[in-house]
Amino acid sequence: MKEKYFGERDRKGHYIPKKRVSYPPIFIWPLAPIQALKWIFSVPGYFLPWNLFYVGIGLVSWFILSPPLEDYAKLGITNFLLVFAKNSVLVLIYYGAFHYRLYMKRAQDIDFKFNPKWPIENSKQFLFGSQTKDNIFLTFCSGVFIWSCFEIFILWFAANNKVNLINLDESMFYFVVMLLLIHLWRDLHFYLIHRLIHYEPLYKWAHKTHHRNINPGPWSGLAMHPIEHIFYFSCALLYLFFPFHPAFIIVTLVHAGLSPAPGHAGFERIKADDETSFDIDSYAHYLHHKYFECNYADGILPLDRWFGTLYDGSEESFLKMRARLSKNKRD
Ligand SMILES: [Zn+2]
Ligand SMILES: [Zn+2]
Repeated sequence: MKEKYFGERDRKGHYIPKKRVSYPPIFIWPLAPIQALKWIFSVPGYFLPWNLFYVGIGLVSWFILSPPLEDYAKLGITNFLLVFAKNSVLVLIYYGAFHYRLYMKRAQDIDFKFNPKWPIENSKQFLFGSQTKDNIFLTFCSGVFIWSCFEIFILWFAANNKVNLINLDESMFYFVVMLLLIHLWRDLHFYLIHRLIHYEPLYKWAHKTHHRNINPGPWSGLAMHPIEHIFYFSCALLYLFFPFHPAFIIVTLVHAGLSPAPGHAGFERIKADDETSFDIDSYAHYLHHKYFECNYADGILPLDRWFGTLYDGSEESFLKMRARLSKNKRD
């Protein structure tokens, strides 16, 4: 499927999709129940492909790859290393797959790549002078480390009977509903913390590190300052306030840990072959990396539309964004 059917290149060679950043027909007024139901069960829709994929990986991570809950009752280095290794392998496989295909093998060259340039490999603004090495370092040494700390501490709390654990035989319906709602909670949490860390001094201390990636690649997804990682993975704390199952924590952290990879891929679509390509929902967040003060949300909740911070890629929306930013400057 050729790029020109989906967008065009500007004078500088930047790819501009024809599509506009939009939301599913589910949070609209007047309500459109038939359209909403259709969207929920279609592909792409609420469940497929992303939501069920991350829930599935999270369930495998808890039921097959994690130590039993009793082992979390004591805080030990062996347990931490096991959890850190498990999460590192998930990250390495998932981020590595996008990076290998798009940036090492360059399987589709710059077809559907927003920015025609490849990541910077000789700049002092990145650790080791390389955007990719900097991103990988921050991903594992801060991102996966803090993710694993949240996992260990929350499950330590649960293993020491400080929460109300559910029994799967009696609460299967509740268990499934909670797992499927994680996606929405993550959307809301990400928007809230993202707005917060765009304010000074948090932006300067922390979020600036992530925004060095003006031309993001998959490894930019979790390349954040440790302060931002603490805010980011705090999404898992919510589940301490509800009847609890360890899988809620693991699925939430897996969703937070893995979902930034496609969103930062730097490509709008991935080509399977010359005839087929798939939209990976990265356009809204790419625009955030390019223009900073728009599209703080990155999911299905239309929070940017509700709060007036949406930039959908159109000329009209660009003018609105520019007017909003110059008004903010004057205020
Ligand atoms: Zn980002
Ligand atoms: Zn940001």
